[in-house]
Amino acid sequence: MIRLYDTMARKKRAFEPADPKRITMYVCGPTVYGRAHIGNARPAVVFDLLRRVLEHAYPDAEVIYARNVTDVDDKIINSAGEEGVDVSVITERYERFYLEDMGALGVNPPTIAPHATQEIGPMIAMIAELVAGSHAYEAEGHVLFHVPSDPDYGALSRRDREAMLAGARVEVAPYKRDPADFVLWKPSEYGVVGWDSPWGRGRPGWHIECSAMIREHLGETIDIHGGGLDLIFPHHENEIAQSRCAHGGKPLARYWVHNGFVDMGAEKMSKSLGNIVTPAELLAQGHKGETLRLALLSAHYRQPLAWTDELVAQSKAVLDRWYRQLGDVEPFGEIAPFLEALNDDLNTPKAIAVINEFLSSSEQELSKEYEYFQGNREQMLQAAAAAARALGLLTMSADEWFRGAGDAGDIETRIAARAEAKARRDFAEADRIRDELNAEGVLLEDGPSGTTWRRA
Ligand SMILES: [Zn+2]
Repeated sequence: MIRLYDTMARKKRAFEPADPKRITMYVCGPTVYGRAHIGNARPAVVFDLLRRVLEHAYPDAEVIYARNVTDVDDKIINSAGEEGVDVSVITERYERFYLEDMGALGVNPPTIAPHATQEIGPMIAMIAELVAGSHAYEAEGHVLFHVPSDPDYGALSRRDREAMLAGARVEVAPYKRDPADFVLWKPSEYGVVGWDSPWGRGRPGWHIECSAMIREHLGETIDIHGGGLDLIFPHHENEIAQSRCAHGGKPLARYWVHNGFVDMGAEKMSKSLGNIVTPAELLAQGHKGETLRLALLSAHYRQPLAWTDELVAQSKAVLDRWYRQLGDVEPFGEIAPFLEALNDDLNTPKAIAVINEFLSSSEQELSKEYEYFQGNREQMLQAAAAAARALGLLTMSADEWFRGAGDAGDIETRIAARAEAKARRDFAEADRIRDELNAEGVLLEDGPSGTTWRRA
């Protein structure tokens, strides 16, 4: 049985899907205008793991995981304006990077990846229903959701009205009937991306996108809705209000699951604070995707995760050990003794600790937890390997894992990263990469046609 902490109920609840043959999960995806950082990667990895756990627990069910792509947004429009290119140039570039970066972290593509620009029709339909039901109104080319029309507004975040108004940081435009009202549709000026609608040419607000896509692809009430803690208010509160008011009071999701932040130093890692590190940079420095995945799973998903060099080094050391002991073991058998912890609200630190404990125990010390195997160490090793696989780790052979650092492809990648660092005049980083390669016995020679390398 799976138990999940439900933000709406503020407690762990036994997970019971509405239909055990068709399990639905929706997670708010990226706004594609910049490279994802490690804080953005955390929900991608956490919900990828939750999907694997669901698929393991419900082998006969279809697990439908939808993660949207926000490809129309003011930040995207601004980026396109700065570069002097079409919006689609920005969105296609950063969606490709996002999929590459998350793929390197072992994140499988979702079952469905709806794009906002492809779902304008369903959004307009839902907005029209909200207007017809007096939950929304038109004002100066905008359509706004009228918050006082939903008596249950605020149930997820449990904020009082004053805190909500402060938290939403919405500009109080003169055409709003209530300061808490939020935008469903807004006008697009000439030259800005837009679509025809009953309220004139314009574009959708962000919140309506998720509500409309969920109904279109998964249904009116889904099993699990996920995302980062920072989305609880206002984004998820607004999704709930839109969907519930459009659907005669039916709940949007049966379970609300939120992951904690990644901290960098004393603060939350965020683009606006400028304290970010990206998977792309870490991979270019020679770290492997599995190391970053394990680092992201090393803390419980609801807890804050402090991102440090030591965390990355420790994660690599754990994987070195797993590959030494399990890398060439056929993954097979009953993994429950190792991964029971995952069913308890995705307790990854415990699951990782159980694998580590088993690997350090001798034949005589094998604790009760492994009685299932009746002391057959080979079977246990196979199950431990299968458990590591279930976490999305140990996906290569031991040979590949240990050879990877220092093979030709890896050296070329780091030389390319050094050239990029030089191009942006970050000579400290360029020197760091050269010194690191030197220390591994790889000598670089800069020539007129680029950099070549040889072994010392
Ligand atoms: Zn959303």
